[in-house]
Amino acid sequence: QTTTKPPPTPSPLRFSKFFQSNMRILVTGGAGFIGSHLVDRLMENEKNEVIVADNYFTGSKDNLRKWIGHPRFELIRHDVTEPLLVEVDQIYHLACPASPIFYKYNPVKTIKTNVIGTLNMLGLAKRVGARILLTSTSEVYGDPLVHPQPETYWGNVNPIGVRSCYDEGKRVAETLMFDYHRQHGIEIRIARIFNTYGPRMNIDDGRVVSNFIAQAIRDEPLTVQAPGTQTRSFCYVSDMVDGLIRLMEGENTGPINIGNPGEFTMIELAETVKELINPKVEIKVVDNTPDDPRQRKPDITKAKELLGWEPKIKLRDGLPLMEDDFRQRLAVPKK
Ligand code: NAD
Ligand code: UDP
Ligand code: UDP
Repeated sequence: QTTTKPPPTPSPLRFSKFFQSNMRILVTGGAGFIGSHLVDRLMENEKNEVIVADNYFTGSKDNLRKWIGHPRFELIRHDVTEPLLVEVDQIYHLACPASPIFYKYNPVKTIKTNVIGTLNMLGLAKRVGARILLTSTSEVYGDPLVHPQPETYWGNVNPIGVRSCYDEGKRVAETLMFDYHRQHGIEIRIARIFNTYGPRMNIDDGRVVSNFIAQAIRDEPLTVQAPGTQTRSFCYVSDMVDGLIRLMEGENTGPINIGNPGEFTMIELAETVKELINPKVEIKVVDNTPDDPRQRKPDITKAKELLGWEPKIKLRDGLPLMEDDFRQRLAVPKK
């Protein structure tokens, strides 16, 4: 494990450090699902100024509408594969499509976003002396042969498969983070995020939780992809945001797993959604996609020890918290 080196000499461009006590924070991908919840939390602190840079590929201004026009908030339409010149103290670098159907849609763009996008944000962090946090993913473990997955596990990733643009892209992004840290003394933080769910998930993103909730609300069968015994561990978004902020504010570079260790098969998830949202809905088994990891569960010992963090919201309590938001967006009121 690497310890954080002393920060580089602050650049004179980092005006906010000299002329005001506010913390200026850049959130890339801040118009997305996790990013917009992170922005909500950061904006609660009156000392924070938040700049969001997003190209709206999978995110939306709607997720940030309550902040648009706020004096401490700024929204920039920007693609992170292009250089960005702003003066900030911290960078939460989230920009990247997270759902398999979106990241497979234009895989070359996904790699560019992960590699060139992260390089640009590191170049920015280097120029202004900012601390930068990358939202990496449990996908760096691939189809894991070690269970649950500790951060020390190097993973089992297919380098040429249809998921590789995302998995390998994030692996290179992590490498870049550590090389900038070792070579240039940049202060880095790496979170390995496990499946996260909550309000504002994209309804059409094909992810299992958003699919099942939307299907249950529309009275459509819940589509369990075969075999249905594959597992995932689902973290509610408020717990995730809490973990990310603790990691940014703490002294450890990571990588640190942030996720909920409660592990469920897709059949169990379907049965839980059925019970909680629509007991009459049918469950059907459909074809799966290639390279689907068979199991996934975070070992969160490090997050507990180093960040004093563990998730608070159980799946059974979190799923109903999404229902209102989904009903509103699907325009299907509760009967
Ligand atoms: P999301 O798709 O809702 O948000 C991603 C945001 O990034 C969107 O607003 C999108 O428009 C923006 N974006 C994409 N490419 C961009 C580019 N080239 N330039 C600028 N903006 C760009 O996804 P999310 O679930 O909020 O995920 C956020 C981060 O967390 C991602 O880095 C993702 O890899 C990571 N993550 C998420 C999960 C999860 O379960 N949701 C799991 C592991 C890791
Ligand atoms: N970069 C950026 N904003 C900045 C500084 C740099 O987007 O404020 C980009 C820059 O365009 C380059 C990348 O970050 O593509 C890496 O920058 P660095 O200075 O590390 O490397 P170099 O420019 O020497 O390749
Ligand atoms: N899945 C499913 N039904 C769906 C969508 C997904 O059973 O309608 C399964 C999928 O095969 C995978 C798991 O749910 O095993 C999680 O898929 P998701 O796309 O949500 O996330 P990821 O694979 O990135 O963890």
